[in-house]
Amino acid sequence: MPQVLRVALDTPLRRLFDYLPPASTEAGEFPAIGARVRVPFGRQRLIGVVLSTGDDSEVPPGKLKPILEVLDPKPVLDRAALELLTWAAQYYQHPIGEVIAGALPRALRFGAPAREVEERWLATDAGAMASAAGEPRRAPRQRALLSLLLESGGATAAALDEQLGSWREAARALLKRGLIASAEIETASPVSPEPRLRAAGPALLPEQSEAVKAVMSGFGRFVAYVLHGVTGSGKTEVYLRLIGHLLEQGKRALVLVPEIGLTPQLLERFRERFDAPMAVLHSALTDAERLAAWRDAYSGRARVVLGTRSVVFAPVPHLGLIVVDEEHDASFKQHEGGFHYSARDLAVMRARHAAVPVVLGSATPALETLHNVAAGRYAHLPLPRRAGEAQPPRLALLDLRTSAVRQGLSTPAVLAIERHLAGDGQVLVFLNRRGYAPTLLCTACGWIAPCRDCDARLTVHLAAGRLRCHHCGADAPLPERCPQCGFAVKPVGQGTERIEETLASLFPGVSIARLDRDVVRRRGDLEDVVRRMATGEAHILVGTQMITKGHDFPNVTLVVVLNADQGLFSTDFRAPERLAQTIVQVAGRAGRGAKPGEVLIQTEFPEHPLLASLLAEGYEGFARAALKERSQAAWPPFSRLAAVRDSAPTPEAALGFLTDARGLARRPPRGVRLLGPVPAAMAKRAGRYHAQLLIESPERSRLHAFLDAWLPEVEQLRSARRVRWSLDVDPIELF
Ligand code: ADP
Ligand code: ZN
Ligand code: ZN
Repeated sequence: MPQVLRVALDTPLRRLFDYLPPASTEAGEFPAIGARVRVPFGRQRLIGVVLSTGDDSEVPPGKLKPILEVLDPKPVLDRAALELLTWAAQYYQHPIGEVIAGALPRALRFGAPAREVEERWLATDAGAMASAAGEPRRAPRQRALLSLLLESGGATAAALDEQLGSWREAARALLKRGLIASAEIETASPVSPEPRLRAAGPALLPEQSEAVKAVMSGFGRFVAYVLHGVTGSGKTEVYLRLIGHLLEQGKRALVLVPEIGLTPQLLERFRERFDAPMAVLHSALTDAERLAAWRDAYSGRARVVLGTRSVVFAPVPHLGLIVVDEEHDASFKQHEGGFHYSARDLAVMRARHAAVPVVLGSATPALETLHNVAAGRYAHLPLPRRAGEAQPPRLALLDLRTSAVRQGLSTPAVLAIERHLAGDGQVLVFLNRRGYAPTLLCTACGWIAPCRDCDARLTVHLAAGRLRCHHCGADAPLPERCPQCGFAVKPVGQGTERIEETLASLFPGVSIARLDRDVVRRRGDLEDVVRRMATGEAHILVGTQMITKGHDFPNVTLVVVLNADQGLFSTDFRAPERLAQTIVQVAGRAGRGAKPGEVLIQTEFPEHPLLASLLAEGYEGFARAALKERSQAAWPPFSRLAAVRDSAPTPEAALGFLTDARGLARRPPRGVRLLGPVPAAMAKRAGRYHAQLLIESPERSRLHAFLDAWLPEVEQLRSARRVRWSLDVDPIELF
């Protein structure tokens, strides 16, 4: 029997911790690899996961402590999961203990059972004797509870709720006297009903059939497929077909979507098609909901496990297929906390470990993904036309320099809206800026409301009567007069709130809906807006990025993009890619039904080569041009990047730390370049100064070899200063 167990604990230390097996191993208590254990850690007791075993330890034998308790009879993380997490910790250079902790729902990190349990209450022998003696005399509720437990031979908490109403207080009193006892019993293994197909779905188009056949030929082994289909080309139908076949084979599917907002619709389509339990995991769940969904996935009850980013870590026994919908979406990259992983890339890695196919679906695949196709690593499954009768929308640019513009809307745009409304079409108006106006200006002295803590202006939120910073969350009342000179102030520029107001005055009597983060605050808000559009109650929808995602409004015939120019000139080499994706995605909302769609893009730079290639040749043409540019500049995917970012109370400290970190590299190995450090484009955010150091290499292995050696040294630096830093491997946003 192995002498030592190596345990991953939720600490920032990049190592495992050695423990002895628990004192009583005879009772089958020897923990499995991947099981949770409770261990002593300094003065604390922590819950960790056993990652491996060994025969010796670097810790002297006298100092090794035994595990206190084994929490799981079976692993909560199976071998494939542990391999994936270990790989991720290594690849993203993050402490393994934190990576593993992050893969488990909070309730499990705090010791909740991995399987569903029932709280059961029983009378003890002492209780039986007391009851026979007519006790407890002066407490009728306690007496009732006790006799009920005796008569029924024990009852679940749910049954007691039903039969007695409030009984907890009585139970506490009886428990104290040892007359009753409670236990958490694993519920009988939840029965998983055989999945059934509710509906057959439409006859597939030839391209859809091809795609389904191709992926099915990959069942049982790893292949990455790129399902590249314009919006409305029937990608979801392909997922449904594939999952249908899988379910018949008793397998399960894992489906990733970029946003919580997209889960209800997709789930709805799955439910229409399949009668099978599904588990949904996303960030808006309560701990209890998340635990319940995780358990459904873990026990195998759920046949489809669907969710955002972190669902890539969900347990899925008998996994047969992974789908990543809208694979290009930046939301798949985790930005918060220290563990910056790409759920899309991990999904591909998971599929590889699990020997199952993965389908990456998008109308606008990421340039990296298209590069992987070109290099023969991913198989390309194109769906070049729309399913059903829908025609591709017509795109046109509106030159803002040559037409009259009122409150952000050019005359041709207004006329087009009028025309489409008259033709009974619905209209989407896209502007990537929420609030009323991005600037509050004093017309007398030129004062502009600044954020105290950021290099940014405060956004006017007129309806709320507030000035808000969209970077740090600062929030202040909207002043009526200039705090500097006392003269009147006025909002300058457009946000969605103001566009809504402008449209309301231009089109009186037309019902207008808005969709942005200010409107969608509570559960159900989004569904409400979607419903108003779907039922035709609202005729115009104004919104941010949120309207570009997934919603299918068949009656929308016109999409107006108010300002394409923010993405054209940016320090981030990925900005053009994101702009092209946004335009194509939002354009895809037009003409999804029988009526043809029209897309108008307002710009001050109609001759910009990016816009030109996008309009003339579509996303594919744009992607070719953009990849050529990346290749010439040796940006990813033609090189590998990692970014070290930091923040500090002063600009000097932020730059100083990264300068010292760079100094530690003395002479970087051949093929590895360090670029910077430089202050971030918006250096001051939330009162701290941000800076960035880039590490670039043509080869991933060299980049990683360098990071492996260098990071532990950088970590040593940190202890002396008030600097926060993090590493981002394959960053997708450069600040
Ligand atoms: P995507 O996911 O690519 O946007 P969907 O799968 O949602 O596309 O399909 C778009 C619309 O076309 C949906 O209303 C869908 O029901 C319909 N559709 C998909 N495939 C077919 C088909 N083979 N025949 C008829 N209608 C289809
Ligand atoms: Zn002033
Ligand atoms: Zn701010």
